Amino acid sequence: MNIKALPLLQLTAESLMISSEKVAHVQLNNPLEHALLILVKSGYSAVPVLDIQYRFKGIIGKNTILNEILGLERFELERLSDITVERVMITNTPCLNKSDHFLTCLKAVMDHPFVCVVNQEGYFDGIVTRREILKQLNKYIHVNKDLFYDGR
Ligand code: AMP
Repeated sequence: MNIKALPLLQLTAESLMISSEKVAHVQLNNPLEHALLILVKSGYSAVPVLDIQYRFKGIIGKNTILNEILGLERFELERLSDITVERVMITNTPCLNKSDHFLTCLKAVMDHPFVCVVNQEGYFDGIVTRREILKQLNKYIHVNKDLFYDGR
């Protein structure tokens, strides 16, 4: 295979993403208890938050939840059922569009283990993970190994 057969930079977020139906998510009005259950059961550190129309609203992670219920001397577990996901989710995360190319995706996942793909109307399309970007990069470097030696 040559470089042309693997047009890395032409890959789009659409071809790299895990599509929405395979992504675990929680909803705005879910209590933190439900979110923590999903996170622990799935083994993910964070998942997207969607509204009832499947529009992307933010991200909720284990750390955010544990910080929220951290009291002076103990975790106040009873608060898990009183607080909604909407109140504590992180909303200032970057998003991608399906048509964004590889380098845009690479830049986006430098600071985040995954980034959400959202359409013009804000509907959730899926996620691009750092793992997938590294997998593609690894494949590209292996296939084009010769390019990375200077002949010495
Ligand atoms: P991974 O690439 O599997 O290491 O995933 C990195 C992070 O992306 C996970 O910790 C989750 O926060 C998120 N993630 C990956 N796959 C999924 C999925 N199917 N559903 C929800 N979140 C996911």
